[in-house]
Amino acid sequence: MTDKNVDYIIVGQGLAGSCLALQLLFRQKRVLVIDRVREHAATRVAAGLFNPVTGRQMTMTWLADTLFPYLHSFYVQAELFLQSKFFFPMPLYRPFVSIEEQNEWMGRSSDADYSRYIEALHTNSAFARQVKNPLGGLLLKQCGYIDTTVFSDALRDYLKRKDALLDEDLHEHELKTDKNAVIYRNWRARRIIFCTGEMAKQTSFFSWLPIRPLKGETLTIATNEPVEVIYNRGVYVVPHLWKVGATYTHDTSPSITEVGKVELTDKLNELIAFPYSVVNQQWGFRPTTPDRRPLLGPHPAFEQIVIFNGLGTKGVSLAPYFSEELTRWMENGHPLDQSVDINRYKSLFSKSA
Ligand SMILES: Cc1cc2nc3c(=O)[nH]c(=O)nc-3n(C[C@H](O)[C@H](O)[C@H](O)COP(=O)(O)OP(=O)(O)OC[C@H]3O[C@@H](n4cnc5c(N)ncnc54)[C@H](O)[C@@H]3O)c2cc1C
Repeated sequence: MTDKNVDYIIVGQGLAGSCLALQLLFRQKRVLVIDRVREHAATRVAAGLFNPVTGRQMTMTWLADTLFPYLHSFYVQAELFLQSKFFFPMPLYRPFVSIEEQNEWMGRSSDADYSRYIEALHTNSAFARQVKNPLGGLLLKQCGYIDTTVFSDALRDYLKRKDALLDEDLHEHELKTDKNAVIYRNWRARRIIFCTGEMAKQTSFFSWLPIRPLKGETLTIATNEPVEVIYNRGVYVVPHLWKVGATYTHDTSPSITEVGKVELTDKLNELIAFPYSVVNQQWGFRPTTPDRRPLLGPHPAFEQIVIFNGLGTKGVSLAPYFSEELTRWMENGHPLDQSVDINRYKSLFSKSA
């Protein structure tokens, strides 16, 4: 017997499930979220950084001109909706390591594609009390961080107040489908969306997708230094949260490691000039994909069973925009961008069947 109708059931309340739930709530849709908090879920471990110019080569991230203005308005709207503060735009400073790099950025700074992200280019040491940068560095704008714990907990509290949260794991054997609906216990919905991050492999519907866990470790430090920018070179240091990260390894052990701690502290000591102590260390697995693009769309055999995953190393900047992309598909039939549609991996489903 079903007696509770909702529009959507969302499984998992990390960045993917949270942003999707908000997109639906902004549109007055009725949602049920099923999620059990896991201390080591990527969203709870993440430093929450967003930065449009990334990587060792410092290149513009994919779709930066679309994703970054979008995330700004999304998180501001989310703060208003949830009456909570978790969005902290803030410049990011990256010291130069060679004269060649300094010259290259002097050239790039006149390129319109890059200049809109550059706040200042320093050819001499800046922030010298706090960071080691004898050759100066680049101060980037449109960067900042989300306090992902405050964000997740604020939405969780909202859902609890609306009786829209099941604080437990989904029991897949209790899930039934009919032509136009999914039924879970006494809940009936138009669709169910799996946002279970690196645990997607444990879902029989989507275990065929190539979601690869990429382990990361972070440190939390304590310091009295009044830092107001994010420092980033080898590692990042996020002020206020005082998170330092992250490592990237294919190690599958579910624990922190001494190797991770040494790597992070060595890189931190090369970057910063102020005293600190390490007070915590965390680990988690990022849900990555071979082509580094998110995974969105319906199961090949069940249109009402959907996935939103593959946020990889950039969940903070990808989740807002692509949760809207998925919402527009579910609500208005707007076609999904092929580069994120799970259809691109359909041959893997045929092989698994
Ligand atoms: C160390 C580290 C640092 C990072 N730093 C950053 C950063 O600075 N910036 C950035 O943009 N990204 C960062 N990331 C990546 C980012 O954390 C991820 O892209 C993002 O959090 C993935 O979100 P998700 O919702 O897909 O998965 P998750 O955060 O893993 O959430 C999945 C949720 O689903 C729940 N769940 C799973 N199975 C079930 C089930 N059967 N029933 C009910 N609930 C279930 C889990 O408990 C969890 O709550 C970092 C990741 C790591 C590990």
